[in-house]
Amino acid sequence: MEGMIKEGKRTDGRNLDELRNLEAKIGISKEATGSAMFRMGGTKAIAYVYGPMEVIPKFLEQSERAILDVNYNMLPFSTEERKRSGFSRRNAEISSVIKRVLESVIFLEDIPKTKILVNIDILNADASTRCAAINAASLALTTAGMPMNDLVTSCAAGRVGENLILDVAGKEDTEGDVDLPIAYLPVKDEILLLQMDGILKNEDFEKLMELCKKGCKQIHEFQRNTLLDYKNNFNNKS
Ligand code: ADP
Repeated sequence: MEGMIKEGKRTDGRNLDELRNLEAKIGISKEATGSAMFRMGGTKAIAYVYGPMEVIPKFLEQSERAILDVNYNMLPFSTEERKRSGFSRRNAEISSVIKRVLESVIFLEDIPKTKILVNIDILNADASTRCAAINAASLALTTAGMPMNDLVTSCAAGRVGENLILDVAGKEDTEGDVDLPIAYLPVKDEILLLQMDGILKNEDFEKLMELCKKGCKQIHEFQRNTLLDYKNNFNNKS
């Protein structure tokens, strides 16, 4: 941890309140109803959305709303050391956390008796994979034409020693003291997910929340521009 932050600069050259480089691409898959890639520095997620589709088996169908299935999967080659493929408790837990976030932004009651499937692959993992997954899913759901409240955005902030930093990465994640990911609706100023790893003073918690919200607002702007570019390109081609 010693020396990770010198004169307000981090090991990767970022300021304390700076996000990593963002990159997004829409329309990754021809088979999915909507798909998107979202990259934050060394963390890259691809989300594939299918549906609305028939619910099979039928008894799972809900007469008042659609059901949502979310599968978050960290691929074996996504980390430096190859990880075992197949079921993991972590994948299941993060899938359920993301499902709860997405359930609160999609108007599921508008498409009753159907199912929406969201599959998310993590291609590269360098912290905040759940955040990149949510940002990718949000874009993919929008391009799939799902009825939604707003684009949901996600990022994390953290503490390294006395320093409060936005968008934790690399050693800041493995050797830092606190990691606080949120999912946020900037327009409504509504928090949909708040998790915390580590111990914080109350005042630092408030400061980290502000940092996270600031990061999410930048991501929201970036997501909107990505969608606008996609729409413009699409219109020019057709
Ligand atoms: P998040 O990726 O959302 O921050 P975690 O806090 O569980 O979720 O993981 C932090 C980081 O630790 C991941 O982004 C990844 O870089 C690394 N990591 C997590 N699980 C594994 C694993 N099984 N093998 C190798 N690295 C992992």
